Amino acid sequence: MAERFEKPFTQQEPISETAIARAADILRSGRLHRYNVVPGEPSEVAQLEQDYAAYQGAKYCVAVTSGGQAMQIAMRAAGVRPGDEVLTNAYTLAPVPGAIHAVGARPLLVEIDQAWHIDMDHLAAQADASGARFMMLSLMRGHLPDMGAIAAFCEAREIALIEDCAHTMGATWAGKRSGNFGRAAAFSLQTYKHINTGEGGLLTTDDAELAARAIVTSGSYMLYETHGARPDEAVFEAVKLEAPNCSARMDNLRAALARDQLPRLDEQVERWNARYRVLFEGFSGIEGLELPRRRQEEHFVGSSIQFHVKGIASERIPEFVAAAAARGVDLKWFGADRPQAFTSRYDSWKYLGDLPDLPQTKAVLATTCDMRVPLTFSTDDCAQIVRIVDDVMRQMR
Ligand SMILES: *Cc1c(COP(=O)(O)O)cnc(C)c1O
Repeated sequence: MAERFEKPFTQQEPISETAIARAADILRSGRLHRYNVVPGEPSEVAQLEQDYAAYQGAKYCVAVTSGGQAMQIAMRAAGVRPGDEVLTNAYTLAPVPGAIHAVGARPLLVEIDQAWHIDMDHLAAQADASGARFMMLSLMRGHLPDMGAIAAFCEAREIALIEDCAHTMGATWAGKRSGNFGRAAAFSLQTYKHINTGEGGLLTTDDAELAARAIVTSGSYMLYETHGARPDEAVFEAVKLEAPNCSARMDNLRAALARDQLPRLDEQVERWNARYRVLFEGFSGIEGLELPRRRQEEHFVGSSIQFHVKGIASERIPEFVAAAAARGVDLKWFGADRPQAFTSRYDSWKYLGDLPDLPQTKAVLATTCDMRVPLTFSTDDCAQIVRIVDDVMRQMR
C-alpha cells in the first residue's frame, strides 16, 4: 500500500507551562491593557519591547496588534501620505498590498526572479519612472535578496526602505539581522510565524522620530513614557500632535506569550533548518523539481519551503497538488488564477484598480509550489514527505 503522511500541516507546538502560568497571573490581576499598570511596575508589553529591541539589535521597538498594523504604522511614521507610491515586490501575501492600500498609498509592483527575490533591474526601472520615495520590501517566505545591494540602492535614491520581516524573524544576511537594513521593519507574531501569540506584531527602528510617531500612532493616549524601548520625551514633544492614534496596541497577555518564546527563538530557527535541510536535499533529488541554491550570506529560517515544478506542464500542477494531498502532503500552488487559502497572486488584488502585467512574476509563480514546515514535524517526517512527493511526481512524469 502507498504510504500516507498523517500529521496536520497547521499544528503548532504548545504554549509552555511557564507562559501559561504567567498568562494566568496577568488574568488574575485584571491588568490586561498595556497602560493599566501599578506605579513602578513596567507592563509586560513594555518589557517585551525591551527584550525584542535587545534581540534585534534595534534602538526602538513598538508592540502592536498584528504584522499588518506594524507595516501600516511604519509607513505612516516614515511619512507615507495618501496618494504616495510605494514600491513593493509582487510576490507576497495579501496583508502587504492591504497595508499599503490602508494608508491611502498605491503599491508599485516590482517583478521577482526565479529565486523569488525582487528583480533589481525592474526595481530600478520602476523607481526611476515613478520617483517613489518609499519601498515596502516583503521578504516573502524568508527569501533574502542581496540586502547590501538593496540598502545601497535605497540610500542612493533616498528611498525609505521598510522591511516586511513576517517570515525572516531570526534570519540574517551577511551576519546582520533581517530588519536592520532600512528605516524600519515589521514583524508578525501571528500563529504561523516564528513566535506564536495568536495575533500580534512588532515594529523596530533606529530612527528616534519615526519611533516616536509610531508609538503615538499605535495608540499611546500620550502615555508614551511607559513604553519599553522608546526615544527621549523631547522627541515626542516635536511629533505628538502630528501623529494620529490608530489604536493598535498589544495587550499584556500576548506579550507574556512572546516573552516566553523569544529566548528560544534562535534554537527554534536551528530546528526549522534541520527539517528544511532534509526537505531541500530530498526535493532537489527529485527529477522534475527545481530548487534554487540559496546564497551563502543568507542565514534563513526554513519555516516553509518553495520549489519549482518543471517536470510537468504547469496546467497539470493542480493534479500534482491533489495527488500529494491524497497522500496527506499539503502543498500550495502559487500559480492559480483564483486566490486560495494563504496564497494569492498579485492580479487577484482587484481593489488596487489598474494592475500591471508582470509576465516574469507570473511565469515564476506558474511553477511555484510551497509547503509549510511546522516544528511538530520530525526530520523523519520530512524524509517521509520527500518519499511521497517523489512517488507522486514519478507517477505524473
Ligand atoms: C503574515 C504576513 C504578514 C502580516 O502579518 P499579520 O500579523 O497576519 O498581519 C505580512 N507579510 C507577510 C508576507 C505575511 O505572511
